[in-house]
Amino acid sequence: MKGKPQKNFNPILLVLSAPSGAGKTTLARKFLEKHPDFGVSVSYTTRKPRRGEKEGIHYYFTDPQTFQEMIARKEFVEWAHVHDDWYGTPFSEIERLHGQGKGILFDIDIQGGVNIYKAYPDRTLLVFILPPSMEELERRLRNRKTDDEKTIEKRLKNAQKEISIARDKYDYFLVNDDLEEALKELEMIAAFPQEG
Ligand code: ADP
Ligand code: 5GP
Repeated sequence: MKGKPQKNFNPILLVLSAPSGAGKTTLARKFLEKHPDFGVSVSYTTRKPRRGEKEGIHYYFTDPQTFQEMIARKEFVEWAHVHDDWYGTPFSEIERLHGQGKGILFDIDIQGGVNIYKAYPDRTLLVFILPPSMEELERRLRNRKTDDEKTIEKRLKNAQKEISIARDKYDYFLVNDDLEEALKELEMIAAFPQEG
């Protein structure tokens, strides 16, 4: 019947944000491997693909003009300018994943998280991932070998700003020191509202 709530429908919107390099992508991938009842929202971006990144899996890669046209057509729930590029969450991703009955994991920045919360206040959980220290964050960014020196410096500077903003706006703070421990904590956060 049309409009009837689906059995096993998972309404949760689980937003993961972090300073770049804290391990959000790693943690999200591990979480998704264990929880097939969640799917990840694939964003649009104007940034160039990194080596190994695939269209429609990691991002929908687009150009600034198309991105602006999508904003004008109100196709985004939220969008933001992050580290010199545009990133946005399309409504179509939320429809696609809810159509499959899945909870949705978002790997987006804090501005995006706050805007997802504004759009869906009763089912959004905002989780901020912290590195064990700023020194460890820098080490992870360098070891990842995906960014040049200028980019790394910019990301480290942004990290301080993001952490102080998140402090006021986010629901949960999770230190990603030991990956397995961090995963367990994330699982507890994600399970909590479904049991209530
Ligand atoms: P983000 O998505 O937050 O930018 P990544 O998931 O790409 O971060 O992780 C940054 C780097 O840190 C990667 O090389 C990853 O393998 C490593 N990493 C992630 N989590 C941990 C952890 N708990 N301990 C040590 N290294 C980690
Ligand atoms: P990266 O270029 O490293 O993939 O992502 C840079 C930053 O943009 C990360 O903090 C990532 O979470 C964020 N981001 C990715 N997609 C979106 C999105 O759709 N909206 C917003 N607001 N941020 C995003």
